[in-house]
Amino acid sequence: MSSKLALYSKKCKIYFAYLYIGEGVHVILRHKLLSLLVILSVVFLSVGNVTADMISYTARTDKFELMWNNAEDSERYYMSTDIKAYACGLTTSEFIFFARVVEGEGADSDADITDKVLVAATVLNRINCSSWPPTTVMGTLQRPGQFEVVDQETGECHCARSLDSEWAIVIAYRMVANNELDCHMVYYNAIGFTGYSRTMTDYAYFGGNYFSCIPCDCAHCTATEPDWHEEDVEMLTDLIYRPDGVGPNYF
Ligand SMILES: [Zn+2]
Ligand SMILES: [Zn+2]
Repeated sequence: MSSKLALYSKKCKIYFAYLYIGEGVHVILRHKLLSLLVILSVVFLSVGNVTADMISYTARTDKFELMWNNAEDSERYYMSTDIKAYACGLTTSEFIFFARVVEGEGADSDADITDKVLVAATVLNRINCSSWPPTTVMGTLQRPGQFEVVDQETGECHCARSLDSEWAIVIAYRMVANNELDCHMVYYNAIGFTGYSRTMTDYAYFGGNYFSCIPCDCAHCTATEPDWHEEDVEMLTDLIYRPDGVGPNYF
C-alpha cells in the first residue's frame, strides 16, 4: 500500500468516527471553536492596541525630544505644556499642578523669574532629600501644611499657571541637575527670615519669598555637596532671567 492511500484511509476513518459520535459533540466542538476564535481575536486586538499605543507614544516622545533638542530657550519657553512636562520627566498633569503652585507661591516680576525658580527648586530639593519623606512632585506638593496655595482639604490648587511658572520649573530642573543652587535650600516663607527660619541659614531673598538652607546628612545631600558647611553658605546674588526677548507672562 502506498503511503498516499494509507493517509487517505486514515482520514476517512477519522471522518466517519466524527459523524458517528453525533450532533451533540459536533455542537460542542463548534462552540469550542467559536470561543477559541473569540479569545484569539480579543488577545490579538488587545496586543494590537498596546502595540499601537506604544508606537504612537514613542513617536510622540521622539517628536518632543527632537523639537526640544533643536530649539533655543526663547522657543522652548513658548512650547506646549506637554513638551515641557516631558523635558522634566513629569506627566502633563503633574507638571500643570506644579506650575500652578509655582505661580501661586512665587513672586511676579517683569524683570526676572528668580522667585518662581527658587520655589520650584525648593520642591525639587525636598524630593531629592531623604529628610523629606515624599519622593514625588505630587507627594511633596500635597503634603499637608506645606504649600499655602494647595487646598488642605481637597489637595487641589486653584491658581492659574503661566508661561513664567512653567519655564521656572524647567530652569529649576536644569539648575538643580547642574548643582547651581544649594541642595540644602528646602524651606521658604513669605514673611521673613523669622519664625521657623530663625534656626535656619538665610540663603535667598529677591523681594518675594525668604529662602533658607537646613543642614542635612542624608546620602543625597552628602553626595551632592560633600564639602558643605552651614557657616559657609552665602546669600544668592544673581537674578534668574527669562530667555532673551520673551515674556513676561504671569498671573
Ligand atoms: Zn538631605
Ligand atoms: Zn503670579
